[in-house]
Amino acid sequence: MEKLTEYFGCMVFGDKAMRQTLAPEIYTAFRRTVDEGLPLDPAAAESIAEAMKEWAVSKGATHYTHWFQPMTGVTAEKHDSFLTPVGDGEVIMKFSGKELISGESDASSLPSGGLRATFEARGYTAWDPTSNAFIKDNVLCIPTAFCSYGGLALDKKTPLLRSMEALDRQAVRTLRLLGDTDVKSVFPNVGAEQEYFLVDKELYDKRPDLVFTGRTLFGAMPPKGQELDDHYYGAIKQRVSEYFRELDTELWKLGIPVRTEHNEVAPSQHELAPYYCKCSVAADQNQLIMEIMQNVAKRNGLVCLLHEKPFRGVNGSGKHNNWSLCTDTGVNLLSPGDTPHKNARFLLFLCAVIKAVDEYSDLLRLSVASAGNDMRLGANEAPPAVVSMFLGDELTAVLDSIDNETPYAGMGKKQLRLGADILPRIPQDSTDRNRTSPFAFTGNKFEFRMLGSADSIACANIMINTAVADSLMAFNAELEKASDLNAALQSLIRRTYREHKRVVFNGNGYGEEWLNEAVKERGLYDLRTVPDCLPRYLDQKNIDLFARHKVFTSAEVASRCEIILENYCKHINIEARTAIGMVMRDFLPAISRFASELGGAIDTRRAADPTLANGYEDAVYRRLNELCTDIYAHNEALRTAVRRTRSVEDITERAISCRDTVLPLMDRLRALVDEAETHVAKDRWPVPTYSDLLFSKI
Ligand code: ADP
Ligand code: MG
Repeated sequence: MEKLTEYFGCMVFGDKAMRQTLAPEIYTAFRRTVDEGLPLDPAAAESIAEAMKEWAVSKGATHYTHWFQPMTGVTAEKHDSFLTPVGDGEVIMKFSGKELISGESDASSLPSGGLRATFEARGYTAWDPTSNAFIKDNVLCIPTAFCSYGGLALDKKTPLLRSMEALDRQAVRTLRLLGDTDVKSVFPNVGAEQEYFLVDKELYDKRPDLVFTGRTLFGAMPPKGQELDDHYYGAIKQRVSEYFRELDTELWKLGIPVRTEHNEVAPSQHELAPYYCKCSVAADQNQLIMEIMQNVAKRNGLVCLLHEKPFRGVNGSGKHNNWSLCTDTGVNLLSPGDTPHKNARFLLFLCAVIKAVDEYSDLLRLSVASAGNDMRLGANEAPPAVVSMFLGDELTAVLDSIDNETPYAGMGKKQLRLGADILPRIPQDSTDRNRTSPFAFTGNKFEFRMLGSADSIACANIMINTAVADSLMAFNAELEKASDLNAALQSLIRRTYREHKRVVFNGNGYGEEWLNEAVKERGLYDLRTVPDCLPRYLDQKNIDLFARHKVFTSAEVASRCEIILENYCKHINIEARTAIGMVMRDFLPAISRFASELGGAIDTRRAADPTLANGYEDAVYRRLNELCTDIYAHNEALRTAVRRTRSVEDITERAISCRDTVLPLMDRLRALVDEAETHVAKDRWPVPTYSDLLFSKI
């Protein structure tokens, strides 16, 4: 095989390919578009389109597509061929600047939450030049934003880019105030760690619940779960290691620098993390990673499960969104640094994040809300549903000393006055680790750990970016008015920390005591489920926030809220119907058949010896008959609940009905079926078991 350094990024029309194929003045014009946000003139777009097509065709591409991220949660693409007939049965390969820059698609079946009437089917895609085009399956994919005829966002990319612009505007303004004249732009860097499960494809195909819902709706726990912790960093099995190698190669070709792949806590669970990059690019890459992970799995007779909780009783899968703020001059603004001047800047940006997380914890929570993630958050394996922040003892001590106006112990006895040049020095690696915190400072970045494994990271980052931009906007207004900058900085940092330190919690986030303290004493939200948190999207303070930074209009917020609630109801509806089907067509027939087998055995034995005492067959026969009756009754009750829920008009009410009537019935039904599984002979059970899925064949 070729050397990695040679094939890395070979399927990406990135900086290297552009320098090789574009005329120098076109390349410069393009870079200015990307780096400084300047518009690209049509002639340059024409040249770029031509070069892009030539490059793509030389790599075997025959089609192109505007690749975008509608509200479905997966990516969408509509392929167009480069072929253009030129008469006499001849064709040429053509691709124009106009085709590169924008597209129109009939996208009437993609969700719009009422923003686009079905008869107004047109949606528009617009090239996002900050994210590189790439080739996938002989198709040139051009990352785009997707909006309605009236310019309303119908995707996750548009608001993400808007939130990055808002953050850029405010952060540059802050830096100017601090005397920085060099920095031209500030952007968030993101590295997303991705967890997932691998299961055998043949076994997967035999489980309708996995096929239709991505998770097991039934399944008794095997005697061995994850308690031995022997999977974590354990030896990687042959089949999985082949999968890793192929996945690496595919992702490297797409210029995605995958860094780690190790086994996770649960059996059959794994994690992958690419090296961090600009937030919008990281969002694109994460979508691609999820897609390629699934494709490569299929080629290897495996299925990659991205559901947040595919197996009950086994840790679920999440995503860690590592977020930092970087300048175009390469400075990480969340790096404590070691000079007092840098500390002032660091503390200011740190406080901006603390304020943001405290004021908009509801948005952070709802940005990760999904039916799947509801099963994970707060289940003693993932962060609780309460959003709090971990800073570590050292940093908290620094901020406490500022708050109390007492010397920072780590600094000796000197009294601290918080001017830009007399701040405490902050030790570089000053944070310890805390796995239970939803939003943890980890040295020079924040790690938001509440994302579900199937989530697009766009939503969470839209919230973080916008909320931090808002903190900075308030800071800027205050500092711009100040006559004594040092004094103003000092009081701003102190006041911000005082007002928002309730969100800082360094202890064990899994404890019941914490939940009590968080809600009762600190007044933090504990929004456990989708119907709890989604309506908060529409709170006036949130609508105002998005309007202030031009991230969402109120119509866009309302549409998103509706789409997410719709999605939640649809998911649960599909799950319930799958469960009902499996009970009627798989479980009840199997249980009943096995019970009658036992009945037959009992009759045979009694015929031979009427005095025989009751034994195995009798006990199990009786219990299975009881279970059959109970399971059938519960299944019918579930059927009724589904029908009733579907007829609830109001979407929030419908979501609540899903949560409070459908899900609990599914749980009770499952408990009965799982018990039956422990009584029925292994070879009579109609679907592969947890032991099969988690421990065999992989
Ligand atoms: P962990 O120990 O939690 O796995 P790592 O340091 O290994 O943390 O990094 C995990 C992810 O965080 C990787 O994707 C990495 O690229 C990303 N990351 C590291 N530094 C930064 C940063 N400054 N900004 C954003 N992401 C970062
Ligand atoms: Mg991590």
